[in-house]
Parts: sequence; C-alpha cells; structure tokens
Amino acid sequence: MIAVDLEEERKEILRRYRRLLRKAKPFLKDNDAKLIKKAFNLSVEAHKEMRRKSGEPYIFHPLAVAEICVEEIGLGTTSIIAALLHDVVEDTEVELDEIKESFGPKVAKIIDGLTKISGVFEHGSSQQAENFRKMLLTLSEDVRVILVKLADRLHNMRTLGSMPRHKQLKIISETIYLYSPLAHRLGLYAIKSELEDLWLKYTEPEVYQDLVAKIAESKSSRSRFIKSFMNPIVDELDRTGFKYEVKGRPKSIYSIWNKMKKQNIPFEEVYDLFAVRIILDTTYDQEKAACWQVYSIVTDFYTPNPDRLRDWVSTPKANGYESLHTTVMSRAGRWVEVQIRTQRMNDIAEKGYAAHWKYKDGMNPTHESGLESWIQKVRDMLEQNDTSAIEFVDDFRSNLFNEEVFVFTPKGDLKILPSGATALDFAFDIHTEIGAKCLGAKVNNRLVPLNYQLKNGDQIEILTSNKQRPNEDWLRFVATSKAKSKIKETLKESKKQAAVDGKEIVQRKLKQMKVPFDGDVANQLRAYFEEKTVTDFYYKVGRGLIDPSHIKNFKDFKKERQKSLRVKNKEHEYSDDFKKIEDPGKDILLIGEDMDVLDYKYAKCCNPIPGDDVFGFITVNEGIKIHRTTCPNAPELLSRHGNRIVKAKWMSQQQNAFLAVLRIIGTDRVGLMRDVTDIISNELKVNMQSISIDTETGIFDGQIRLYVNSTKHLDQLITKLEKVTGVMRVTRHDSREFS
Ligand code: MN
Repeated sequence: MIAVDLEEERKEILRRYRRLLRKAKPFLKDNDAKLIKKAFNLSVEAHKEMRRKSGEPYIFHPLAVAEICVEEIGLGTTSIIAALLHDVVEDTEVELDEIKESFGPKVAKIIDGLTKISGVFEHGSSQQAENFRKMLLTLSEDVRVILVKLADRLHNMRTLGSMPRHKQLKIISETIYLYSPLAHRLGLYAIKSELEDLWLKYTEPEVYQDLVAKIAESKSSRSRFIKSFMNPIVDELDRTGFKYEVKGRPKSIYSIWNKMKKQNIPFEEVYDLFAVRIILDTTYDQEKAACWQVYSIVTDFYTPNPDRLRDWVSTPKANGYESLHTTVMSRAGRWVEVQIRTQRMNDIAEKGYAAHWKYKDGMNPTHESGLESWIQKVRDMLEQNDTSAIEFVDDFRSNLFNEEVFVFTPKGDLKILPSGATALDFAFDIHTEIGAKCLGAKVNNRLVPLNYQLKNGDQIEILTSNKQRPNEDWLRFVATSKAKSKIKETLKESKKQAAVDGKEIVQRKLKQMKVPFDGDVANQLRAYFEEKTVTDFYYKVGRGLIDPSHIKNFKDFKKERQKSLRVKNKEHEYSDDFKKIEDPGKDILLIGEDMDVLDYKYAKCCNPIPGDDVFGFITVNEGIKIHRTTCPNAPELLSRHGNRIVKAKWMSQQQNAFLAVLRIIGTDRVGLMRDVTDIISNELKVNMQSISIDTETGIFDGQIRLYVNSTKHLDQLITKLEKVTGVMRVTRHDSREFS
C-alpha cells in the first residue's frame, strides 16, 4: 500500500479549490463565492472516502470539471456548483432534495439531468432508445446539463490512462459517437479537437504516438517556414499599425490522421498540416473591415485560391463560428491556409456560445445573466414548434440523432422511425389499413396534417376516415420505405380499378354513338385526348378527369385531328431531343427535402430563371409551382401556408460533377505548373478543388483534385495533360473516400 500524506493532500485540495475561485472571480457577484464554497464543502464531505482509479482523492475530479466549465467553456456560478456536485447524487448518500434545498431548483434540475445521462449506453439496446429520449428531454430543459457533462467527459478522457482497458474502450467509443459531435454542434472546437485526439490516443496508441513524434520533428522546419512566410505580412501589418498575434498551430492530430486515412497518403504528403492564424486586436465595430484589410495584405504577397475562400465574418456559421479563411500559394510552392479573425472571434471559436454571449452582453458583471439569456433562448427554441426559428438547436439534435426519432402511441408504446418520418409514416407503421385511411393526426393533443414531421417524444393519435384514400402527393409525405411501397401498391390498385371503370364508360359511350369499339379506335381516342397510353386515357375517364361527354366531339374531328396530331407529336419529340443536345449543361432544379427531380411549373407572378433563389409551393390543382424567394407573393405563401412549401434548389452541372484526383509526375521546369493549370482551368473549363505539388530534386510530383462531369471528360483531360512538355505520367487516383 502506498502511504498517503493526508495533510499534504488536504493542502493540495485547497490549492485546487482556490485556483478554481481565482479563475471564476471575474464573473462572481454578491453571494456567489459563498454558494460555491458551500457546494465545495458538501462535495468534499460526500466524496471523502472515495478515490479515483489513479489513487487521487475523488474531489480532484469535480474540481477539475468545474475548472473546465469556467476556463474552457466560459460558464458561471450555477454551472460551477453543478459541476462540483455532479457525481454526488449518483455516487454518494446525498439526496437530490438536499441539493434542491441548499442550492435551489435550478441546480437540482441540472444535477438530476446529469445523473440520468450517465445511464445512457449503460443498458441494452431497447433501453438505449429510451435513454436517448430522456437525454433529449432533459437537454431541452437546461443546456447546462450538456455543457457540464462535456466538461466531465473531457476530464475523464484526460485521465483515462488509469482505467482498465474495457472501461477505456467504452468511454472512448461514447466520446467519438456522442460527445465530440455534441461539442462540435455547440461550437466548442477546442474541446471537440481534444476529445478526438484523446480518442485516437487510446484507440490507436502507436499511430498516435508516431504522429505526435512526427509533428514534433517537423516543428522547427515548420516555424522557420511560417516565419519566412509571415515576414512580408508582418512588416506590412506593423506599418499599418495593427495590433495582432500570429499563431502557426498544427492541425489536430485526429484531423491529420483522418486526412491520411481518407486520402491514403503518408504523413509527409499531408500538405495542409497547419494553418497560420492571425488574431487581431480591434474594436467590435472595426472587426469586419480589419479582417478584410488583413486579407488584402496577405493576398498582396501571395496568390489566393479563390475556391478556398471562406467568409464566416459576414455570415457566421450556425454554431456561431466567425473567421475569414483563405488558402494562398507560398513561395515554396505549397498551399497555406490563413485564418484571419479577431480576439473575440477566436474566443468564440474555442469556447463556443458561452463566450458568444459573454461578448454580447459586453461586460463581465452581467456574465451569468448573458448566459442565462442564451440558455433561455435555446430552451425557447426547443419548445417552439415553429420550425423557422429553430435552426441551431434543431440542427444540433437532428445531426446528432439523425438516424431515428422516438415517438409514442396513445397507449404509451414506443415506436422508432427513421428521422424525417411523418404522421403518415407512423400510421402505416401501425397498420396498412390505418395508413391508407389516414386523415390527419393529433400530436400531443394538437391537430396536425398528415405530413407533420415527427419529433422525439411526440405522442401520436391517428385520425382516419373511410372516405380517405391515398393519392400521389402522399409519396412526398413519407420517409419510410414501408409506407412508400404500401402507398404505391394502393395507388396501382386503384389506378387499375379506375382504368377498368373508364374502359366500361368509354365502351358505353361509343355504343351510344354507334361506333364499333376496337384497339384502333381506342388508340385514336388516346391521341385525340393527348394521352401517353390507352390505359392513361381510360384511367382519366374512370377518375372523371376526362369528361366522357367530350368523346362525341372526337367522332367529328377524328380524321383531320389524327393527321395534325401526328405531325405535332413528331415536332414535339424532335424539339425535345434538340434541346437535350443543344444544352447539355442545363441547370436542373432539385425539389423537396430529398432534393429529387420532380415535375414543376414556374409561377407567373415572378418568372424564376435558373440560378434564382427559389422555393416550391404545392398548389391544389397544378402540382408544384416554383417561386422566387423575392416574389411579392412569397411572404404570404411562406407565412400562411408553410406546410405547402417545399425546398427547391438549382443544381448546376458543375456541382453535379464528381471529384477526381490526378497525380502528375514529370521533370520539373519553369512554367510547367502554369501550363498544367492552364489546361485544367482555361482550356477544359474544369473546376479545380485543390492542387499540391512537390518539386524535390527536379521531379515534379503533383496531386490535383478537380471536378469532372464524366469519365470521358477525365480521359480527355489526361490525354491533354500528358502532352505537356515535361509531363511523364498522369494517373487517376481512387477518389471514393473523398468528400
Ligand atoms: Mn464525473
């Protein structure tokens, strides 16, 4: 047994506690320090007999979690208290009521949530679903539950070394599956990267150590490179009077590893190992101008790759990330990513939303209240059913739990459907008959249409009617293949029946007209009514879409009609073909959540053309109409008939292209690179995504990622490139893994 110096340990605990207080101090007000002390004392007392696997006193853990909350996430007093007490209810004798009494209902609720979450993954798969749901519902009460949990997880990952292997494996797989995407969604990039790196460290220890060593090895040459790269920029920044800081941090080990794996290349070939970050010290109202001014300085010295410009300064990412990224060609012939941002943006990038709100409220004294309002906002968004306002959190949840949605029958039975499933999917899931007669549904006692998208925790009662029957539109309302195939089946069935009915009606009508019925006449009728097939014609008569009384008109006009129709049909066909040949690069319009190619018409009120920002509107009689988002009718359509709006987006042929990777090997000469890129971008109009070139020892070895429309296109390109003087070999790499 190892002798423990208890006195020394007690001192260490106090040292750590004081360090926490020191870090939290700027945010504290009134009674806060007292409350934190009370929580600390309760936690020390409750955990006093416990030790961590490493042998340390258990209290080190809650203290560290609280410190992460303050320092790395930017949370305040409520979270510090919750962090200090986070394991108390689960692992010790202390009851939740006790905490509620001493620290109020808010802290108690967070701790209750944290205790519940720790059960996620604990049980078998059916239990898992239920736990996910609980976690979601808890999350919607207070986001701090998730933030404190992330801090807890981060500390556990940092101290994973002393855990037995099977526990390590469980913890790391949860981390990569659940916690790092969670951190990403919340904009906590620093925590996300660290979690991923730690995941790799314990998943592939040798690979990880190897990468750490290689990054360390290349450190001095990297700093030399950055120094010479930044030299002219720094001079100019100084001359212009900017206050700034330059960082040349390598990318995370995990992201380098990921790149190596995806592109199947060794460490040495990962060309964007690091990014140069320029962090500006400027006032809030000068931010945007300053960032672009620095961009202008950088690109005065180095040529930017226009495809790699990312402006998250003008439009921040949904999770709050702001930064201006550009990739420029250095004099050493390597692409370098330069990130330009202000101190504030950098804080947000590393600490996420909590930092965002700190800045929003400006000064420190209101820190907790700023955070309060953020949490309130997230909660409001979660509670609102209005989808337009949801964005951030909804995105967060659907991305995290994008596979399934958990809902309940009126009796409380759990049903698991794919995410995106609607009330109609649910109805078909219960029974085909119920699906086929589905009129609508009551979700949590509120009446909703049958295309209502289910949310986790919804309780659904299906309303049916005997008069109801499936129609074509329904296919757009369902996400499950079960519902889709059942709807198609019934449609086919009823179409068949309608065609049989229609044929009978036609035959009766002809008999009245004294026209003998045969295949020829049927076909002439089809042509007269301009239908594609005879069955289509019968079907429309059967459904009443063609008025049978019009059949008698056919008799009089049938001869001339027949002739002109034939000509007309031919012309029609030719012009179709002609269009296809003439305009191979025509943009296509993708519609709906799944971005399908569907039939549509242009709205006459705003006449959209390809490239316009558009949306689809489901009309009663004319299918989908496409409107511009700037259409004068748009506000009304969008606000009053939201359920009939479908997404629509132009897809240019170029975007439709696929990514290919070419490797070019040759003898290096002046201008070779320019000749190669000229062919790619000017002559063949190919869109290059990136290019990396090594010209060691006179050998030109380049890798180009580009978009091509077809393999034929690619072959053409290869042939052309092979003709460039100096090029010896052009080969295509497998690009399956590229995103
Ligand atoms: Mn813990």
